[in-house]
Amino acid sequence: EQLVIQETDYDAISSKIACINKKYLPDPQIFSVYPNYELLYNSYFNELPKVTRRSYNKIKKLMSSNNYPIMNIGTYLRTVSIDHVLSLYLLPNSDNAEKNNHFQIINLGCGTDLRYFQYNHIYEERLERYIDVDFPMAIETKGRVLSNLNKKNPSLFDLNDNGGSTDGKYQLMSFNLNRNTDELIKQLELVGCDFSLKTIIITECCLCYIEDAKSIELISKLNSVFNAKTNNLHWVSYDPIGGTDKFGQIMTDNLLFQRNLKLPTLLTYNTKEKYSKRFSSIINSDISIKIEDMWEIFQTKIPLKEKTRVQKCEFLDELEELKIILSHYVILYF
Ligand code: SAM
Repeated sequence: EQLVIQETDYDAISSKIACINKKYLPDPQIFSVYPNYELLYNSYFNELPKVTRRSYNKIKKLMSSNNYPIMNIGTYLRTVSIDHVLSLYLLPNSDNAEKNNHFQIINLGCGTDLRYFQYNHIYEERLERYIDVDFPMAIETKGRVLSNLNKKNPSLFDLNDNGGSTDGKYQLMSFNLNRNTDELIKQLELVGCDFSLKTIIITECCLCYIEDAKSIELISKLNSVFNAKTNNLHWVSYDPIGGTDKFGQIMTDNLLFQRNLKLPTLLTYNTKEKYSKRFSSIINSDISIKIEDMWEIFQTKIPLKEKTRVQKCEFLDELEELKIILSHYVILYF
């Protein structure tokens, strides 16, 4: 079961690379501050077969089957909306107190996401720690690929033999999020997590694979540990929602039938309101939680010039289908 869940990262990375090849990503804003985006993902992908040919072959296969305009627009929107929220939370505080402007990021269920390199490039002075968390096998592979790449291109990576950064800032942490949450806190401490520092937790297509009771425990524990020391916890979460139509049931049935993959909470937190309640019933009531679906983001948040650029990447005529799919994916942030 763990392997089936872990392999969902193959979809994520194959879609991201397809988006890079078709020039959806990076959006020009990221490109202007981090010019190595394409190089980073392509070199990771090209190194992967030397570490695991099986994963590489599976990703390569998905790259051709998953590569169609609706999917690419979805991946593009998912990536840029998370980056947009992160950059909002990372604007320097006006009080200019040095410590207040420092921060750490914890990416739960990070898969092959390589945002550390992007964020460390942009916020090198202020980024104190970046912790990527995933299942042991996923972390081991990522560590080995990154460490190989580091040997080839030390100026781009600057990592140690485990794939973490030589200065300890970047940590790859093996942890099954279904385990005891006290253990999670202990492990985070061991890799240098500072619970009194401004922190952003990312869960990008991760909570959807976790049983309801466990995900509540996870949100609750992290919220209480960080808020006991600081009121400076942010969270960015992206997931599919089942909706009130047949979408959720069809997705559930298909994934179970085709891949034996379960999405335990897709039909529970099936609307934006319910997905938002998942957090609001746990965190302090004075914190305002925002949630938007990807169709709203596409319609209202992407500047016209950028929208035009994206629509030129590939021909798309299934606008109604795009609307249905995008309205079943949400980004929540506080
Ligand atoms: N967040 C990455 C992204 O969006 O590119 C990867 C998304 S992938 C769909 C889901 C990831 O969550 C996989 O890498 C999987 O191994 C991880 N994951 C799911 N359940 C987990 C658990 N219980 N413990 C650790 N990682 C988990």
